[in-house]
Amino acid sequence: MSWQSFPKVELHLHLEGAAPPAFIRGLAAEKKIDLRGIFREDGSYAYENFEHFLTVYEAACTVLTTPEDYRRLTLAVLEESAAHGVVYSETFVSPDFCGGGDVEAWRDYLAAMEEAAAEAERKFGITLKAIVTSIRHFGPDKARAPAICAAETKGAFLTGYGMAGAEMVGRPGDYTWAFDCAREAGLHLTCHAGEWGGPDMVADTLRDLAPERIGHGVNAIHDPALVDRLAEAGTVLEVCPGSNVVLNATPGGWSGHPIARLRERGVRVTVSTDDPPFFHTTMTREYEGLEKAFGWGEEEFRALNRTALDAAFCDADTKTRIGTLLEGTP
Ligand SMILES: [Zn+2]
Repeated sequence: MSWQSFPKVELHLHLEGAAPPAFIRGLAAEKKIDLRGIFREDGSYAYENFEHFLTVYEAACTVLTTPEDYRRLTLAVLEESAAHGVVYSETFVSPDFCGGGDVEAWRDYLAAMEEAAAEAERKFGITLKAIVTSIRHFGPDKARAPAICAAETKGAFLTGYGMAGAEMVGRPGDYTWAFDCAREAGLHLTCHAGEWGGPDMVADTLRDLAPERIGHGVNAIHDPALVDRLAEAGTVLEVCPGSNVVLNATPGGWSGHPIARLRERGVRVTVSTDDPPFFHTTMTREYEGLEKAFGWGEEEFRALNRTALDAAFCDADTKTRIGTLLEGTP
């Protein structure tokens, strides 16, 4: 069956990474910025490997320079997500790209994104919450400003803090200041780990940063004791199978992806797209890939969405309202 209209919850989506290529090309043309080098002839993003992907990603971000750009970006991304049945989404946004880590500049960007989210909710029936991220490969010192921005602007829309970027830069313990700052402000916490790093990175992240959720976390599969601990603690993994397959973060393609084994071992897994146009994916394609690889159907997908909603960084009223949408017939 087509899973396109099946109601979905997505927890792991980078706002700039979700930018439709046509949107970035259009904005580059308006601003007379030459970005031809980052696109293939067919118009998709061109990159060779994960490091190159980060470079192309940051190049695409150079056209996004004003709050108005982010308002339009947020609307374009949410329209695309809603077209794939997503009724609730959380997106990573970085003050490093939105005002250079300055709190007052950041407020304007955040207000623009919140305005777009309200418009998308009216027009497309999708609810969005934002999670501020520090960019790990900018280093521990530069991780502080985004955490302060997040702490200063926590509210109904901005509900979480986390860390993305190149996972092998530094150790989790180098970033405790930023996570403690966000935790003290009452923000929910998540952190990328176990996408490129091994199970030790997941374990150290849980020990030193104590996030509620782990972004990816799939390499935990290589340590059975850690898998048991994740299952017992109820730690939620934001798994992005299509991203892992395209970047070769996990071996064996879709059928070898650890999500099914983690789930069988009792780990609470969810499904997201990460940076969908970069990985030629959508939430519909993720569901199709899982159906084909593991025979998952309505029962499994409903359970995944319930787990995701349980772990969502939003208030109880929103959870109740979204829960009703999930129960509806697809
Ligand atoms: Zn990610």
